[in-house]
Amino acid sequence: SVSIGVLAVQGDVREHLDTLRACGVHALPVRRPAELVQVDGLVLPGGESTTIDRLLRAFHLAEPLQERLAAGMPAYGSCAGMILLADRLVEAHAGQQTLGGLDMLVRRNAFGRQVDSFEADLDLADVLGGDHEPMRAVFIRAPWVEEVGDDVEVLASVEVDGVSRPVAVRQDHLLATSFHPEVTGDPRIHALFVRMVRQARDDA
Ligand code: GLN
Repeated sequence: SVSIGVLAVQGDVREHLDTLRACGVHALPVRRPAELVQVDGLVLPGGESTTIDRLLRAFHLAEPLQERLAAGMPAYGSCAGMILLADRLVEAHAGQQTLGGLDMLVRRNAFGRQVDSFEADLDLADVLGGDHEPMRAVFIRAPWVEEVGDDVEVLASVEVDGVSRPVAVRQDHLLATSFHPEVTGDPRIHALFVRMVRQARDDA
């Protein structure tokens, strides 16, 4: 079986561990480089991306993590995790850096203060083997994707003021969603990520 880590410096770690375990994989929190080397894939949870960015550096995790990502370790970022996997941010907070990997421009807190949090039904059939069962997506001070490079596959979007904003994307071994699938009890995004991790391990 594969081992999947959940970055555990800040954010909603427990819910991701529970959902991964429900998918039948070994899941463990990752706070130190010694834990990072034990995992075949990593979930970057929601939380506060500026705080996670700061703690990654303080815990000496940023560099080993970037090396593993560059070497092809699969990663899934939700909300703040999506921000961390973006190559570029719109109006980055002073000094805020990202790990990068996904060729895209992301806007933090994009949906605006008046709609701090909301829910929407998404159709992810293209990546879920034709399964059109709507996915209830929970957005909490969520980012959206403003621009994607040619190699980024848009898996789902939400329409805002007539403009379609990507909220789920994939590029090679990296997956990201603006929303929080760990809070709804729908394991399909985690199951998709588990398939990506298994695939990467079989290919290695
Ligand atoms: N607004 C947060 C940030 O910019 C993300 C919110 C979340 O992860 N729920 O980091």
